[in-house]
Amino acid sequence: MAAARSAEVCRALHADLAKPYTESYIALVKSSCKFALKNLKKWMKPQKPLGVVLIISAWNYPFLLSIDPIIGAIAAGNAVVLKPSEVAPATSSLLAELLPRYVDGSCIKVVEGGVAETTTLLEQKWDKIFYTGNGKVGRIVMASAAKHLTPVVLELGGKCPVVVDSNVNLHVTAKRIAAGKWGCNNGQACISPDFIITTKSFAPKLLEALEKVLEKFYGRDPLRSSDLSRIVNSNHFNRLKKLMDDENVSDKIVFGGQRDEHHLKIAPTIFMDVPLDSGIMKEEIFGPLLPIITVDKIHESFALINSMTKPLAAYLFTKDSKLQEQYEATISAGGMLVNDTAVHLTNQYLPFGGVGESGMGAYHGRFSFEAFSHKKAVLVRRFAGEAAARYPPYSPAKLKIL
Ligand code: NAD
Repeated sequence: MAAARSAEVCRALHADLAKPYTESYIALVKSSCKFALKNLKKWMKPQKPLGVVLIISAWNYPFLLSIDPIIGAIAAGNAVVLKPSEVAPATSSLLAELLPRYVDGSCIKVVEGGVAETTTLLEQKWDKIFYTGNGKVGRIVMASAAKHLTPVVLELGGKCPVVVDSNVNLHVTAKRIAAGKWGCNNGQACISPDFIITTKSFAPKLLEALEKVLEKFYGRDPLRSSDLSRIVNSNHFNRLKKLMDDENVSDKIVFGGQRDEHHLKIAPTIFMDVPLDSGIMKEEIFGPLLPIITVDKIHESFALINSMTKPLAAYLFTKDSKLQEQYEATISAGGMLVNDTAVHLTNQYLPFGGVGESGMGAYHGRFSFEAFSHKKAVLVRRFAGEAAARYPPYSPAKLKIL
């Protein structure tokens, strides 16, 4: 389907998010599919399907986040009900229209709708619920699942930190941060860098490098760039506007700040040293705003990150292997990536998922198959090999044999 219908999928993604073609990730869905088909025989050996699973997906990558878990679920032999996000209606209705044409409709159903429909779905008994979205709804999903003791995978979000050491290749670092932030749905991605921590002395150089890269990527008038997704709807636009206009942070803007309410566009915007108790540092930004927090010594970043809830991804740019080891050992995060951002998501050999408030359970590649399988233990014995001590009446003499 992804191959034959890629133009339609891209059109739906553009209608929902003005998503540039390169960010549609159709190739990623195709490679997930091929990878599962290639490895299925090997994966299937000791596992059994769970049964009927519910997949609830989110609006920011509405195609990828629907199809990728379906690949794992059907590879493992389950029947699936998919509930795409109503916040990306073009993609939701395209999935509802196209999926039945390509898959067995008795095994995969698409149910469209919002809170009311999802609430009704959550009241049913499932063998597994796989939910992608925010933690507030994640709690609702988990509470509903608890009524039937249904296991859940929760793919949630959080504030993904990027620690930048001063010994890095500045230009490559700036490009890779920009690609993971603004090149991922204009920051509306669960693994987008949420904030940067660097040293006071290095911050001006990093800012200058980011400014140069951003101008090269999106021009002098980024609001007109077709390579930047728009903000998904006016609710999210207003949420981001509120974060920007907070009187404690609005004077900390050092780059960008332009917005176009009519077209729901916000330009890449960088802040320097916003207060740590401001909204922008308390909630997941999920948009094109990027605060830089400065510290005297780079190691101070560890305590700051650990004072917050556990992120879905933690990034570090450094050439110092000691710092890298310490970061890996000290920071708890769903995933970690050194000297890049976001691309760990595309590696089929790595589990993708959160920890703590960024979620539970993981998928991608073999881990998707496992997420939708039950490792049923089956032991078959012969009738020989009886141990008398196992059976009453128990006696000290029998115990000696044990
Ligand atoms: P969303 O608004 O599309 O909601 C997700 C799903 O929850 C939708 O299908 C929606 O219908 C359903 N839903 C919403 N309110 C509900 C309710 N009250 N009861 C039952 N179901 C309800 O998406 P969102 O939550 O805005 O997505 C953004 C969040 O998702 C961010 O926090 C982001 O970090 C996270 N996210 C995580 C991943 C991941 O893979 N870990 C991927 C994408 C997004």
